[in-house]
Amino acid sequence: SACSAAAMVKETIRVYARVKPLGRRQQAAIYSVDNDEKTLPSLEIVMPHELADGFINNKRESYKFKFQKIFDQEEKQDVVFDSIAKPVAECVLAGYNGTIFAYGQTGSGKTFTITGGAERYSDRGIIPRTLSYVFNKLQKDSSKVYTTHVSYLEIYNECGYDLLDPRHEASRLEDLTKVTIMEDPDQNIHLKNLSLQKASNEEEALNLLFLGDTNRMIAETPMNQASSRSHCIFTIHISSKEPGSATIRHSKLHLVDLAGSERVAKTGVGGHLLTEAKYINLSLHYLEQVIIALAEKNRSHIPYRNSMMTSVLRDSLGGNCMTTMIATLSIDKRNIEESISTCRFAQRVALIKNEAVLNEEIDPRLMIVQLQKEIQELKDELALVTGKQRTSELSQEELLHLDELIETFLEDNDPDSTLDVGADTRKIKYCFIRMKQLMKHSNMADKKLLSQNISEENNINKEAAEEELKKMKELLRQRDNEINILVNMLKKEKKKSQDALFQLNSASDGSTVLEHSLSLNLEESQSPSCCLKETKDFSSSINRLPFLSRQTGGKMSLGCQEAFELFKRDHADNITIEDNKQLLKQR
Ligand code: ADP
Ligand code: MG
Repeated sequence: SACSAAAMVKETIRVYARVKPLGRRQQAAIYSVDNDEKTLPSLEIVMPHELADGFINNKRESYKFKFQKIFDQEEKQDVVFDSIAKPVAECVLAGYNGTIFAYGQTGSGKTFTITGGAERYSDRGIIPRTLSYVFNKLQKDSSKVYTTHVSYLEIYNECGYDLLDPRHEASRLEDLTKVTIMEDPDQNIHLKNLSLQKASNEEEALNLLFLGDTNRMIAETPMNQASSRSHCIFTIHISSKEPGSATIRHSKLHLVDLAGSERVAKTGVGGHLLTEAKYINLSLHYLEQVIIALAEKNRSHIPYRNSMMTSVLRDSLGGNCMTTMIATLSIDKRNIEESISTCRFAQRVALIKNEAVLNEEIDPRLMIVQLQKEIQELKDELALVTGKQRTSELSQEELLHLDELIETFLEDNDPDSTLDVGADTRKIKYCFIRMKQLMKHSNMADKKLLSQNISEENNINKEAAEEELKKMKELLRQRDNEINILVNMLKKEKKKSQDALFQLNSASDGSTVLEHSLSLNLEESQSPSCCLKETKDFSSSINRLPFLSRQTGGKMSLGCQEAFELFKRDHADNITIEDNKQLLKQR
């Protein structure tokens, strides 16, 4: 069919006519049906002379209207269903929105056509037949998972009522839940408080239809004439999804039984009928305005918002929907004007173009699962082609190799040199990240940085510190050594001086020995401590030593010298030694 072929179907609203069988006491008007398939089928209605005179602006005697098809009095419900409803049901099953609405005066057969007659099973109308057809199709189709809901809305006096309100059985229409219209920023219409009842099979759906019709009849009183003044919209909501697919299709089928289209004819001066008559039902007046606006070319504003009914049927008229209208006619002599009005309305509707699009939507959770699967499949495929299992991270070896490549590339002064890491986005990404790091660290540009990442840089710093520590320890050890040697020397000297003193005390000649031995000892001591090569004058040579050579050469340091001076000064025998020195010098 036209629906399943493309994602968008652009076509005019299909308009059919159905003529109700005449009652026993009714007198038929003169009309003829020409169902010639070559030209469009046409319905001709002949106006009797006495009535034609009443139509001031129109002296014609016969009126011809074109329809998709005309169903005459004897046509049965199954034929009507097959021609009108089955193609729309097919579209809805394919994911498009669909609407079938019946328009005509009260008693012309709208309810009979849409819902059906109560007397015979064969009289069941479009709603039960469509439900049967749809559920039968859904059960046979195992390629998709379907979910079905129904809703049943009645609009009376600009108020919406939920006919499937399960909370109570209403005795008055006003007791049912009130439905209101909400419009989202995208100008989509949402019906607040209209319940969507889940119907998993034909029986459940038929029970809901019956519940709705019961509520409708109970609420109906002779005073409010609800059935002729109200609009009823039975909607089948279908959503479908192929197993494993993230795409969900939603579609709606509105089956609409409009209020009676009868008008009150204005009576002109002298009792003449005027062609311009007014709808009893105001919302049908707004419906006609919408239809006129839509039929006009280049009309930008369509007054959908004027009534609840036009708001609800917005998509069905000039929107995203496959729409079909059935003009119901009760061709009784007394109903000729009404029949002509109905046909005229139908002709205007036939000019309206709708653009039905597939209502698809992506389920994000299903999309993620699907994409994860696809990634794994691609990875497997890549592993098969390259012979390597590709993980999300590069190996240490690969990273080092890349660092080398980057280093070579950066050092290469040839302007034509390129950095080629192959068609591997992981490697390309790594190179960019590395370059960025290098740019940031360019101040402390160290070639080592090229081959090490940040954690390795830390290691380098640590190693350097350890190296430094080792040097310092070595230096300290050398100093200790020097100090020990000096202390030993001093001890020796102390002993010698004591011996000398002793000798002095015992024998008066010995001072030259002491002075001589001191300088000798100092000369001997220079080989283990590696110091004082140039001079025998201990203290002055120390002071002359440059700082660097003292620090690194292992020679006696300033510290040692100071320690030595301090030691001499604080020594208990210092005064005695100094005195002896003076004494010896004098001698
Ligand atoms: P409407 O809903 O337009 O006011 P109805 O569907 O209630 O009109 O029809 C009025 C009467 O005519 C009902 O009794 C209905 O059963 C009968 N009727 C309407 N159309 C047909 C038809 N095609 N065949 C037999 N009876 C019909
Ligand atoms: Mg009716």
